[in-house]
Amino acid sequence: MSINSTPQVVSIAGSDSGGGAGLQADLKTFQNRTVFGMTIVVALTAQNTLGVQGSYPIPTAFVEEQFKSLAADFKIGAAKTGMLFDKEHVKCVVDNLKAVDFGPLVVDPVMIAKGGHTLLDTDAIDLIKTDLLPIAYVVTPNIPEAEVLVGYPLTNDLEIMQAAQDIQSLGVKNVIIKGGHLLESQSRDYILLESGERYWLVSERLETVKTHGTGDTFSACIAAELAKGQPIKEAILTGKQFIQGAISNAIDVGHGHGPTNHWA
Ligand code: PLP
Repeated sequence: MSINSTPQVVSIAGSDSGGGAGLQADLKTFQNRTVFGMTIVVALTAQNTLGVQGSYPIPTAFVEEQFKSLAADFKIGAAKTGMLFDKEHVKCVVDNLKAVDFGPLVVDPVMIAKGGHTLLDTDAIDLIKTDLLPIAYVVTPNIPEAEVLVGYPLTNDLEIMQAAQDIQSLGVKNVIIKGGHLLESQSRDYILLESGERYWLVSERLETVKTHGTGDTFSACIAAELAKGQPIKEAILTGKQFIQGAISNAIDVGHGHGPTNHWA
């Protein structure tokens, strides 16, 4: 088998020293999904299952150097973005993505960690909307992130459906709004596809505190499946099944809220 027939995926995101979220969660997910994973490190965090104790950006010139290294050698079939830190880093990532062909782009618009630590400066939001989403294939906001993107609160199904449409009108082809809750026993994601197809993806709601890194794992799985050539609808379904398995088989390490199990 030639090396270039192996699906290759890159995560452009932040490091979680605790191994449950960020680049580490992405690489573990890529391994599980049998794609070759790579990383472009945008920022570092000092982090464990109790929270984020600190964060530190990589100089943008060095982020660019990582893009150049990967573009010079690999045949990347899909990419995802996670923690992008601030406006300068969003601009650097957008400029570099435009200069390469890394395949379909999954944007996980990471803003705030569950513990409350800021992973993206608020003044970077506009650039995400105007420059990153127009080159994205999929975006995967949770409800609070979707609210920031559209600028109004999402309190019912109609507002969530409207928000998906408003986010799609920013230029991204496919929108997944994670976690609208109808019944306590159900978790519901709203999907709006490029084709115009729209539906709620309903699954069992898992009551657990072991949810650290779930968003990263979900979007990484979708990127992996896209790199394999799966259509978007199948990639989303695989992502959902994978994250449900990872949450229900969460690992018992650390004293805090995670992590999920990437080899479940
Ligand atoms: N740390 C990094 C580096 C991340 O990219 C993310 C992704 O969302 C998180 C933390 C979030 O962790 P949590 O799932 O606990 O909110």
